[in-house]
Amino acid sequence: MSKTAKIAIIGTGFSGLGMGIKLKEAGYDNFVILEQSDDVGGTWHENHYPGCACDVQSALYSFSFEQNPNWTRMFAQQKEIQAYLRSCAEKYDLMKHVRLNTHVAGARFDEKTQSWTVETCDSPELWAYMQKKGLNPGDRLDRKDKDLPEFSAFKADVVVSGMGGLSTPAYPSIKGLDTFTGKSFHSQDWDHDYDFKGKRVAVIGTGASAIQFVPEVAKDAAHLDLYQRTPPWIVPKPDREIRPLERMMFQKFPQTLNAFRQSIYWMLEARVLGFVGNPRILKIGELQARRHIRNQIKDKELRRKVTPDFHFGCKRVLISNNYYPALAQGNVDVLTDGIREVRGNVIVDNNGNEREVDCIIYGTGFKAQDPIPAGMVRGRNGQDLLDAWKNGAEAYKGSTIHGFPNFFMLMGPNTGLGHSSMVYMIESQIQYVLDALKKMQKHGWKSVEVKEDALSKYNASIHAKLGDSVWQTGCKSWYVNENGKNTTLWPGFTWQFRQQTRRFDAGQYVCEPEAVEVGEVTPAL
Ligand code: NAP
Repeated sequence: MSKTAKIAIIGTGFSGLGMGIKLKEAGYDNFVILEQSDDVGGTWHENHYPGCACDVQSALYSFSFEQNPNWTRMFAQQKEIQAYLRSCAEKYDLMKHVRLNTHVAGARFDEKTQSWTVETCDSPELWAYMQKKGLNPGDRLDRKDKDLPEFSAFKADVVVSGMGGLSTPAYPSIKGLDTFTGKSFHSQDWDHDYDFKGKRVAVIGTGASAIQFVPEVAKDAAHLDLYQRTPPWIVPKPDREIRPLERMMFQKFPQTLNAFRQSIYWMLEARVLGFVGNPRILKIGELQARRHIRNQIKDKELRRKVTPDFHFGCKRVLISNNYYPALAQGNVDVLTDGIREVRGNVIVDNNGNEREVDCIIYGTGFKAQDPIPAGMVRGRNGQDLLDAWKNGAEAYKGSTIHGFPNFFMLMGPNTGLGHSSMVYMIESQIQYVLDALKKMQKHGWKSVEVKEDALSKYNASIHAKLGDSVWQTGCKSWYVNENGKNTTLWPGFTWQFRQQTRRFDAGQYVCEPEAVEVGEVTPAL
């Protein structure tokens, strides 16, 4: 593969932008970054609900090669993170590679040319039609509608997915929800024009997103009913302003910022000892979380309701200083009886109690187990990626899949973290992909495909480690699929993942040479 080979990157979050920056630095210029939204930033552009902020310290939750001395808080708010990502895109001259408002409708591997055909949809009309009909991108291939524009298509030698696992909203299936007569939206599709003043609001879900927006909504709403299925473990958030003097020091002496970053890295890394090695260590965290409840909630019944009954760490441990105080407000009720049905503007719980509401907010998370829609990515012999994943998503080093040559994933299966910054994992994978491209160029390989046994051995080792982890202690979470298989988390220290992805291990791959044209002179060996 030559350096001028075309590379298609999907998504402009930390993954897509980071990949673009590193490609440019390495001298690759023939790449395009496809973004379905109207600006860059990925999840940090899509999620803009009130209170949205990162729950990992920003000094670490940022690129190592573009450390930011100007973060205003220890845990930056969404707006600041999105602005940071945009400034990275501009500084590294990436915007000319970015195609906004472009949905990737499909990517198909072509055996003959050993390359990918990438179909994109830049017609809002067509995309809206598909959304309305509930069509997956892949369905388009079989659709017969003639009156809508065709998808655009181009050839790419390599496809890098930076789509992330948490972008497709999940909605609860509740009887009668379609009869609801009030306003409703998901946390990812926040309607900032909706005025909560004087309104009765129901929030469904108490995960990482909900605990951030509930305190904000509770400030304005006349009443808030919080439908809680499982209370999360929550510990205090060590947040504060980063003072102007500190920022000045970080600007003048970047090594102080780096030292600060390193100290956060190692502090968070220590948590792995509890998550994977010895869950008993997590008792310390549980005690801290129980103390947090006692300190912030006086009412015994409310304390009982918000106290989890599963192992600390089994689901994502959340951080907040204003969630429990919001629940203790007079205008908030925590409801734990579950929802039986919705009738017009009434929510009926499983005990038959009826409560009128004007608005429902879904804090019900994302389809983490189906990060890529059916039919979107088709590899050798037209195999759909979801069929390859019918027993749960798997990838070699979270990056490559047998049957899908030249398709690389960033933030792929089992690269997620419960304890530290995903940006660190993303940078590790970017290095792996970059080394693959360099080796393909050096050796004249047209395509690389991970061997089946390499993939299965790798995954067997991952799942052996996961077996002893706190995530397998019986709670239900989006980390684990319906068969109990953890397809999302990395079971170890992040530096171990970095070691594994430092170099592209070509021995685990089938590497196809460039086809030699008839009449072309083959160089003598
Ligand atoms: P989530 O953690 O999956 O939480 C979803 C919530 O909705 C849970 O409380 C869940 O209850 C509840 N729920 C789901 N379906 C339900 C149903 N049918 N009926 C009643 N309740 C239902 O989703 P999220 O809060 O959007 O967060 C997702 C992930 O995004 C996080 O884990 C995190 O990785 C990421 N995130 C990160 C940040 C950050 O600061 N970096 C902020 C927000 C989100 P159960 O627990 O019983 O399933």
